[in-house]
Amino acid sequence: MNDKIIECKICSNEMKKYESNNPQPLLPNFEDRVCIDCNYFVTAGRMVIPAEIHIHNIQGLSEIICNMMRIASSLKRINEDLMERMLNDR
Ligand SMILES: [Zn+2]
Repeated sequence: MNDKIIECKICSNEMKKYESNNPQPLLPNFEDRVCIDCNYFVTAGRMVIPAEIHIHNIQGLSEIICNMMRIASSLKRINEDLMERMLNDR
């Protein structure tokens, strides 16, 4: 089992390599890996992006989706940090 720590290519969260997932079709690079949270979006992407559309034709759309996920992920982290600080300040 490969328990090396790697970074999710979409949200930058760290994960064990064996827990990572294939990001196609959202990211075109077959070397890239994504975390379990981002993988839900990748799986949804596979369901809504028709298979007959060539990868280069969905590049722009995929970038928009990935940027949206990056921002949402940052907002989630900021919110979690804030909640933790509020709990620690009590
Ligand atoms: Zn991720």
